[in-house]
Amino acid sequence: MFSQGVREPLKATKLTAITFIALTIVSILIGAIGGAILLNRVRQSYHDLEIETNQRQGDRVAMLFEYLANDGMGEKEILSLFQKTIASTSGTMNRFICIISDEGEVLCHPSDAALGNSAKNMVLNPLGTKKRTDYSSWVRSEYDEAYLLSADGKPYDLIHRVPVQNFSWQILVHTRLNAIEGQVHQIQRTIIMGLVPMLAAFVLVGTFVARIIGRRYEAAIEESNRELEAHVTDRTRELSRTVEELQQTRSALVLNEKMALLGQLVAGIAHEINNPLGAISIHAQTLEEDLKDEEDQAAVRTINQSAQRCSHLVTNLLAFARNSPPRREGHTTNEIINTALAFCAADLRQHSISLRKNLTDSNPVLEVDRIQIEQVILNLVTNAAQALSARDGERVVSVSSETDESHVVVTVEDNGPGLSQDIEESIFEPFHTTKEEGSGTGLGLSLCRRFIEHHGGSISYEASDLGGAKFQFNLPKENANGGNGHADALFGEERIEKG
Ligand code: ADP
Repeated sequence: MFSQGVREPLKATKLTAITFIALTIVSILIGAIGGAILLNRVRQSYHDLEIETNQRQGDRVAMLFEYLANDGMGEKEILSLFQKTIASTSGTMNRFICIISDEGEVLCHPSDAALGNSAKNMVLNPLGTKKRTDYSSWVRSEYDEAYLLSADGKPYDLIHRVPVQNFSWQILVHTRLNAIEGQVHQIQRTIIMGLVPMLAAFVLVGTFVARIIGRRYEAAIEESNRELEAHVTDRTRELSRTVEELQQTRSALVLNEKMALLGQLVAGIAHEINNPLGAISIHAQTLEEDLKDEEDQAAVRTINQSAQRCSHLVTNLLAFARNSPPRREGHTTNEIINTALAFCAADLRQHSISLRKNLTDSNPVLEVDRIQIEQVILNLVTNAAQALSARDGERVVSVSSETDESHVVVTVEDNGPGLSQDIEESIFEPFHTTKEEGSGTGLGLSLCRRFIEHHGGSISYEASDLGGAKFQFNLPKENANGGNGHADALFGEERIEKG
């Protein structure tokens, strides 16, 4: 009932799979974003490098012009010399230089066909601005770098401008953007080729890390599941124990209530019943002695035995309900056993039961309540006699005693049917009887156990070698609690009546 409420333990492998997938996705995302940033950075750096190269080339040409001018060379000579130098590179280079006057006339150009053309229709986009401009405005602006735009507005050349000091010229260093892009793409391809295995390695490492983390979590979760289960089991056991204790307490309360009621009832009627029973018994004995006819004698004997049985039942009921402490006095073991056996001799005779007696020679003196111990032996022998009544053939009850260092052990056994295993456990519980209604109260053995335990001893049952039941009780030889309990007048009265 308690285990039904327990949650199914969290599946640790599920968590590992989630961790693994999450780490893989994060690894791929980091790789992709990192790769994109890296590739963009490559393009940027390459552009910066191109700009710097253009600058250097433009500055060198400007220095050359300055040197030639200082050397006394004229404007036309310089242009002619430079034109010859650059013409040879016409159309082959991704970078080329041209000289344009501030007014926009092309003075030098790798392509001779371009010479004398006007640069005024150039559309430019200076770097660092979003505005388009024409050549004249750009030359006058502070910006040195610009994209040359095509008719459809797309940049196709990166241009660096260097004004020549001695003349009204601009040195324009062009770089073809598609050539730059080509280079950039090549570098990017190379990087991607290196990056993919790196990313794969990254994912692999991620997977590995995920596995390790997952395993740790798995172990931790499994451990916590185990603890949870152990905790639930403990709590369940505790609850079961509590429920059991409650049931026991409830049974004890019910029993106490029964006992109190029984005590009141029995105390009320015992005296009234025992006196007439005593009278019946005494008169039946006298009558039996006076009668001559054997059949009549047997009938009167039965009356006497029945009266004694009734008295015995009332005695048990009363003793059980009263639960009186023992009144201890010194008596020898054999004296107690013999007195008890004398009470049931008639019963044994009537059922044709042979009594085998084997009493200890050491015969120690016991500090006990003689009446209680006699009552125990009487109950055990009476039960044995009743169990044997249905047996054909020889009927035997054996009563023996022995001693060890600390205890006297008394055994009562018979060759009757014995006890079935399923009731063995509960025969010492009060009100447990297998006898027909009216024949047994189920108090005899429970009373025996109570009396024996009050004397510091114990009583047990086992199957007898004779074939029937074997009850054995022990009593400590020395009683620490010597001395008397309070007087129990009724007990005395009843026992006298039995005799
Ligand atoms: P009662 O005799 O009133 O039934 P007891 O407590 O004396 O109550 O005995 C309990 C039960 O134990 C009996 O009903 C009987 O079934 C069983 N019992 C006791 N002694 C013997 C015995 N010697 N042989 C077989 N059964 C026995």
